[in-house]
Amino acid sequence: MSTDVDIAVIGAGPAGMTAASTAAEAGLSCVLLDEQAEPGGQIYRAIERLAARGERFAEILGEDYARGAAIAQRFRQSGAVCQAGVQVFDLDADGVLGLIADEGARWIRARRVIVAAGAQERPVPVPGWTLPGVMSLGSAQTLLKSAAMVSDVPTVIAGSGPLLYLAATQLIEAGARIEAVLDTMPRERYLAAAAGLPRALMAGGELRKGLAWKRRLKNSGVRYLSNADAIAIAGEGRVTGLRARVGHRDMDFACSLVLLHEGVVPNVQLAMVAGARHDHDGLQACWRPVLDPFGRTTVANILVAGDAGGIGGAELAAAEGELAACAAAYDLGCIGEREFERRTRVPQALVRRKKPLRRFLDTLFRPRDEVLVPPGDDTIVCRCEEVTAGELRRIAALGCTGPNQSKAFSRAGMGPCQGRMCALTISHLLAAAHDRDPAHTGHLRLRPPVKPVTVGQMAGAPDDA
Ligand SMILES: Cc1cc2nc3c(=O)[nH]c(=O)nc-3n(C[C@H](O)[C@H](O)[C@H](O)COP(=O)(O)OP(=O)(O)OC[C@H]3O[C@@H](n4cnc5c(N)ncnc54)[C@H](O)[C@@H]3O)c2cc1C
Repeated sequence: MSTDVDIAVIGAGPAGMTAASTAAEAGLSCVLLDEQAEPGGQIYRAIERLAARGERFAEILGEDYARGAAIAQRFRQSGAVCQAGVQVFDLDADGVLGLIADEGARWIRARRVIVAAGAQERPVPVPGWTLPGVMSLGSAQTLLKSAAMVSDVPTVIAGSGPLLYLAATQLIEAGARIEAVLDTMPRERYLAAAAGLPRALMAGGELRKGLAWKRRLKNSGVRYLSNADAIAIAGEGRVTGLRARVGHRDMDFACSLVLLHEGVVPNVQLAMVAGARHDHDGLQACWRPVLDPFGRTTVANILVAGDAGGIGGAELAAAEGELAACAAAYDLGCIGEREFERRTRVPQALVRRKKPLRRFLDTLFRPRDEVLVPPGDDTIVCRCEEVTAGELRRIAALGCTGPNQSKAFSRAGMGPCQGRMCALTISHLLAAAHDRDPAHTGHLRLRPPVKPVTVGQMAGAPDDA
């Protein structure tokens, strides 16, 4: 197969748009691919459309959201080609990407691939999480950003993390009928994180912004309860309520929509499929690719930037996009050493400055054990194949030590989502069952397609694929 493009960037968030702009401005041919209909990624979703219309919702989404307009504008002027509405379902170590769009499947080859596929919300396997009427909080925020939609049914939000404060406040201000917000962060975390506070405060204004969201949430008039745990969702056929322990009290909430959120984790599927090495990050309780300071993975042609390489937020994601594109341009001989050093100085300094903030947030919001490993046996872990925590514990007791073995016994992780919603839980559950570190238990070996592709779409693919 001939090479189609110098650089392919997967993901049009701040990392991907910045990487594509940098590569194209350096004179490389570059294509930016995203499964969404328009560039923006998670934080700047629909930014061009909303900014152009000056809609009321853009105001609700705030100053940080508006910042995405400049990143999108730089990208549009850079000469990089945008292919929106395209899913990448495969990536190999030679830079060959499998794509699906309305017209079917096709393959392209790039000399370098920058994976900027962002984050996904951490799965929250609590009792009842598979009932109709349970969504992730991020999905509700996506509806707000992309379609100006808010639910008008009684809703309970439960979880923790900075995005909880932001998205809950946005939904309340947009008119959603929120009955209660249950914050699951244990109080003792403040003590654990306290030592890192002074350095985190010096890393920039994010912490103050986070505190401001929390204040707005508490002042919104919606019931806000902290120190919640033991979340269980009730209902026959669909959600009718939620039970939680708040402090030492069991409390019931009537609702027909539950929005769960326990932070975000890197979207590792494509880098894993390409064969890049990933290590377990004990603090973020997730896997992340092993990267050099410029985003190069252990596979020569593949780089990773932004949240896909470890959660860092939008500003860091853009800096990492710049670094990865400079590294690719340098490796391809498009810029020399002095130019490389000149261009990478500022983003590298930003990455160094932000590190203490990340450590502080990761300590404060580390997921509770019951989020990583469901305590009850009846809770479903693998939604596609309907495998429960009890079934996985039974398999572990038979001597199965890792997720690739448990696949053979149970098919857990083998459904259409290819482990997206269960891989983390399976690893943590098997690790807990054998009293081992998840780093030793390992991650599901992922296989393409990482997105569902029909046989018809594959059959229509061009012959030279
Ligand atoms: C649901 C959700 C909502 C969030 N909302 C906010 C927010 O409001 N404010 C905030 O500060 N932070 C938010 N975050 C955190 C946010 O992800 C980061 O701070 C920042 O957007 C990371 O930028 P990025 O460029 O690394 O990735 P992202 O902005 O996540 O962009 C990644 C892009 O990759 C695309 N992609 C992924 N896989 C594929 C594939 N296989 N094929 C094609 N395209 C693909 C996605 O469609 C997405 O557009 C949110 C995270 C999530 C998961």
